[in-house]
Amino acid sequence: MSKRDYYEVLGINRDASEDEIKKAYRKLAMKYHPDRNPDNPKSEESFKEAKEAYEILSDASKRTTYDQYGHAGVDSGAAGTGGAHGFTDSFGDIFGDIFGGRAGPSNVYRGADLRYNLEVSLEQAARGTETKIRIPTMEACETCHGSGAKPGTTPVTCPTCNGHGQVRMQQGFFSIQQTCPKCHGNGKYVANPCGTCHGSGRVKQHKTLSVKIPAGVDEGDRIRLSGEGEAGVNGGPPGDLYVVVHLLPHSVFQRDHNDLHCEMPISFTTAALGGEIEIPTLDGHAKIKIPAETQTGKIFRLRGKGIKGVRSHAHGDLLCHMIVETPVKLTTRQKELLQEMEALNQEDSSRHSPRAKSWMDKAREFFTE
Ligand SMILES: [Zn+2]
Ligand SMILES: [Zn+2]
Repeated sequence: MSKRDYYEVLGINRDASEDEIKKAYRKLAMKYHPDRNPDNPKSEESFKEAKEAYEILSDASKRTTYDQYGHAGVDSGAAGTGGAHGFTDSFGDIFGDIFGGRAGPSNVYRGADLRYNLEVSLEQAARGTETKIRIPTMEACETCHGSGAKPGTTPVTCPTCNGHGQVRMQQGFFSIQQTCPKCHGNGKYVANPCGTCHGSGRVKQHKTLSVKIPAGVDEGDRIRLSGEGEAGVNGGPPGDLYVVVHLLPHSVFQRDHNDLHCEMPISFTTAALGGEIEIPTLDGHAKIKIPAETQTGKIFRLRGKGIKGVRSHAHGDLLCHMIVETPVKLTTRQKELLQEMEALNQEDSSRHSPRAKSWMDKAREFFTE
C-alpha cells in the first residue's frame, strides 16, 4: 500500500509556510476527528493520515528530510506516528485550540472532605495539646496502585471515546459532547477489575494522624489538615480533614468565650465578717479577699486568669460567683448560738438584713395600692 504524499494529504503546496500547514491540518482535523464522525470508520484513517503528514511537515528538520528522501527518509524516524492513540499526546495543543481545552479525562475528582469530632478537656483547650486520631478513609488500593485493574493488567484506553472521556454526537445541525457511556468519562476502561477494590481503585482503610491543637481553641473550632481527607478519584487531589473541637464539661469551670466562670461556696461567717479564700485557677490557685457583708451571688473578677484566645491572643478573666452556704448538721450548741444571734438580729431586723428589708418595702407598696 503506497502512502500518499504528505503535501497532497494536507492539500498544500510544497512551499507552504508553517502557518499554512497548521491551518490545513486544523481544517482536516476538524473534519475527520473520530469524535465528530462516530459512524464513519474511514474518517479515522483520514484523520491519522493528516496527523502523520502534519507531524512531519510541521517539524522543520523532518520536513527537510522528507523533501529530500520522501517517505523512506522519515518513516523510521517518525516516532509516534500511526499509533492508534498518539494524537492526543502529540497534538494536545492543537486540539486544545480546536475543541476548547480538552486536555484529558473529565472524570477526575477531588477526594471528599472528612470531619472528625475531637473531644478535648478544658485544660487541653487552654494549653494546647497534640493528640493522635484514628480515622476511616478511602485510600488508593495497594494491590492495583489505584488503577482498579487486576495486577498484571492495565486499564486500556477506552475504545468508545479513545480516552477523551467524552463523545460527540451529531443531532441535526448540532454536535453534542457527552460523557462517554462506556468509561463514564474516565477515558480508561478496566477489563479485568482488581479483586481487592473491585475496580474502584480505592479501599476503605484506617489511618492514624497526629493533630496539633493550638492553645485557646473553643467549642466548634475547626482545624484543617490539608490533603488528609479521602483520596481523589482518577488521580484527583485528596480532600481535607477537618478536626472539629468539642469541649468536655469541666468539674469546676464553665467557659464563656475566653472567660471562665466558677461558683465558690463561702460560709456565712466569712461572708458576714470577711476573710480570705483560696480559689482554683487553670494554672494553680489564687487568693481572693472577701470583704465583710458579702452577699451571695457577688462576682469577683480575676483579670487575665481566663483563657488566652486562639485568634485574639487576649487573656480572658476568671469570674468567681460567691455562694453563701447554709450550714447543715448543726449540733445543739450551734443551734443555740444561731437562735441567740437571730434574737439579736430581730431587735433591729431592717438594719441587719438589707435585702429582706428592700423586699418587704416593695411588697408593702404592692399590697397597699
Ligand atoms: Zn485495587
Ligand atoms: Zn470512554
